[in-house]
Amino acid sequence: MDYKIKGYQPENLFHFFEDVCAIPHGSGNEKAISDFLVEFAKKRNLWVYQDNALNVVIKKPASNGYESAPTVMLQGHMDMVCEKLADCKHDFEKDGLDLIVENGIVRANGTTLGADNGVAVALMMTILDDNSVKHPALECVFTTEEEIGLNGANSLDKSILDAKIMINMDSEEEGVGTVSCSGGMRYAMLKSSQREENTGFVLDIAIDGLLGGHSGMDIDKERVNAVKLMGRVVNNIAKQYNVKLISFSGGNKDNAIPRECNAKILFIKENELKKAHETLKTIQNELNNEIHPTEPNFVLNFAFYNEKQTVKTLCDNNFINAICLAPNGVRHKNPKQGNFVVSSLNLGVADTEREPMCIVFAPRSSVNSLQEDTVQTLDILADTFGFNTNITGRYPGWEFSEVSPIRDAFCRSYEKLFNAPMKIEAIHAGLECGLFCDAIKSLDAIAVGPTLCDVHTPDEHLMLDSLERFYKLLTDVLSNL
Ligand SMILES: [Zn+2]
Repeated sequence: MDYKIKGYQPENLFHFFEDVCAIPHGSGNEKAISDFLVEFAKKRNLWVYQDNALNVVIKKPASNGYESAPTVMLQGHMDMVCEKLADCKHDFEKDGLDLIVENGIVRANGTTLGADNGVAVALMMTILDDNSVKHPALECVFTTEEEIGLNGANSLDKSILDAKIMINMDSEEEGVGTVSCSGGMRYAMLKSSQREENTGFVLDIAIDGLLGGHSGMDIDKERVNAVKLMGRVVNNIAKQYNVKLISFSGGNKDNAIPRECNAKILFIKENELKKAHETLKTIQNELNNEIHPTEPNFVLNFAFYNEKQTVKTLCDNNFINAICLAPNGVRHKNPKQGNFVVSSLNLGVADTEREPMCIVFAPRSSVNSLQEDTVQTLDILADTFGFNTNITGRYPGWEFSEVSPIRDAFCRSYEKLFNAPMKIEAIHAGLECGLFCDAIKSLDAIAVGPTLCDVHTPDEHLMLDSLERFYKLLTDVLSNL
């Protein structure tokens, strides 16, 4: 193969990365890359295991003098996100990536690069291949379908592993060690709608232009939740006038902060319309004052229909009451560790137009008992207003540990090599570490990696010198364990 990346050390690391890029390996299409890793291990007479989910585990014995050190797991996922520019002809099922190397950066022509997490695959291959690197016994774990729900890591039989230490390499910022992640789930409150016919004047309300964001990473940014805000507006009107709710819908996904919401309300008495118009203008002004300083594109629009109509309305206020009382946003922070978010939830979807009607949340926490507390709180809410509940897609969190020898080892090596302190962070989103720490009690874990930019987009790129420095750091840590 003609390699494009030149001038970086060790050469093999960069060549293995290019080898990985040459094999299509989108999520759900991992057969070829998985078999390639099995072959790689067999050629080197290494212990290898491949399961039905196509996960691969390769074990390598300790170097001379490292036999008594605890076994170390190196881990990353072999699948990549497949995104391309609209005019790009690339076929992710069949084509290898077309790499472009310039100015110390590698990217792919019109597509994602899959450095997330191809760098981890290449790093593990390099260490498995190079017998001059000093290390304790190694278990290299290559998982599948991480990007579509941590599926490979979830189904892998962890009892085949002896590791006491885990180094996950799916972090995207050089110089940062991640030491905690949140667990998550989708919590749905469901109820079949009871409707009755009523005659009156219809009011349409629309909220739009809010920033939204990721329900984990952005939950501490005080972004306005369109569904919660609409619940407040509708409740405010319902307290002052004789009205019935016709419909309410906002948000698309449990794990995105809702940016938009629409509601339709029926006014029973014609003589209230004029006053209600004034009330809505007041609400509009108040909300603009509150929200525009942080969300300048926020708008609340409303319109009354002039003719009297007969429509189906909900029989009670329980849907709106549940939205108004629903907990939402940050629930706990850790003041001892940089105030990172420990537990939160996002009210992501509310819709009376589905049958059953639904209110859907994405609760997250790195501490499983706090996650349980959120679930119990939501159970009370559901019970109070007559909803059924349904939990799906549950995965465990990875709790911050006060004592972590692997964290100390990374901090020491980083300081020694680069003369600067390593930053230690927690992320409020899912990582595969949670599943391994849940299955292997007292596993000492850290997530690290070189700097990747714009992952999951066609602009994804890797800083080549960052990968070079990361390899130095990783091998230094391994040789000091
Ligand atoms: Zn990743």
